[in-house]
Amino acid sequence: MRGIFGGTFDPIHFGHLRPALELAEGLGLEELRIIPSAQPPHRGTPEVTAAQRLTMVELACAGEWRFVVDDRELRRDGPSYTLLTLQELRQAWGEHESVVLCLGLDAFLGLPSWHQWERILGHCHIVVAHRPGWHIEALAEDETIAALLDTHRVDSVAELETTSAGGIWFQPVSQLAISATEIRQRVREGQSIRYLTPQVVVEYIAGEGLYL
Ligand code: ATP
Repeated sequence: MRGIFGGTFDPIHFGHLRPALELAEGLGLEELRIIPSAQPPHRGTPEVTAAQRLTMVELACAGEWRFVVDDRELRRDGPSYTLLTLQELRQAWGEHESVVLCLGLDAFLGLPSWHQWERILGHCHIVVAHRPGWHIEALAEDETIAALLDTHRVDSVAELETTSAGGIWFQPVSQLAISATEIRQRVREGQSIRYLTPQVVVEYIAGEGLYL
């Protein structure tokens, strides 16, 4: 079983890294692809380039064999459609490989706004990592999400392993209430970001003068 974990990673932090590692370990993944997305136009921090976000991801993931940093969405022209990434990886990994798309709960709740989102579960399972501040009860309020869960929710990780796609599973992970927004804000205000992200990332941000 192989996993995909995408994000803007502006910058990557322990709130991404620790849950990602626990997902990889807990699900017994052969690898977890860490895939930085092209910056969505509405959330610009233009002083930080895609190359710099990628460098921070590479620095943070170095030495962790479970993580494979994948820059395909930054190399591709046009929007970072997850569906396209899934199709490419599915082609590389073969149709029988069990593939899990790992999402924080907030990202999962936003799924119905994604490009051709109904096709996503045709290519992968979805594993939702619980994120602080978001509650599973909120899901019941959204009819689209509730219907999706009715059809796709599975009862065990073993069910994900026996099929290649189509299941939804909630995996508990350590909850770290850290956000990239908070990190950018702290840098802007001259506060320390130590212990929110790996020291190599702290030093890179300082060295390049990012987020000032
Ligand atoms: P921003 O604050 O700029 O919105 P972010 O910290 O939410 O950024 P993203 O790059 O947007 O980070 O998130 C990538 C993925 O990581 C998403 O699936 C998101 O749900 C998840 N994620 C981000 N922060 C956490 C956290 N503290 N705990 C668990 N999951 C998280």
